[in-house]
Amino acid sequence: MRSWSTSRLWATSCRFSVGSTLLAKDERSLEHDNTTGFNCRYAVAPGPKRWSVHAYGLAIDVDPVENPYVEGGRVHPRAGRAFLDRSHVRPGMAVWGGTLVRAFAAVGWRWGGRWTSAPDYQHFSRTGG
Ligand SMILES: [Zn+2]
Repeated sequence: MRSWSTSRLWATSCRFSVGSTLLAKDERSLEHDNTTGFNCRYAVAPGPKRWSVHAYGLAIDVDPVENPYVEGGRVHPRAGRAFLDRSHVRPGMAVWGGTLVRAFAAVGWRWGGRWTSAPDYQHFSRTGG
């Protein structure tokens, strides 16, 4: 397993362009419901520009259609709108007390679904961010 400091060096050595092309690829990947881990990109969250925890290999997005990221009324991916009612649990959905959230919690990873202002139901990370 890669250590935190090694991961940081690896991420900061990503010298390719992180622009709209890559973001468009990210959106397409979400639309295809791909579960992804490492991704050398900046954080989507508001605030100063900084590396995403995905750039350090410390986060995984699981089944993004069933577990969308809800940011300021926008849903990523758009097909995730069908899964905004989190009380109607269907296969692939991460929910409190569910297998997915409990499995990640058992190894110390935290769920983005706990963020009330911009829940990221697909996101699990070692750092909690
Ligand atoms: Zn994520």
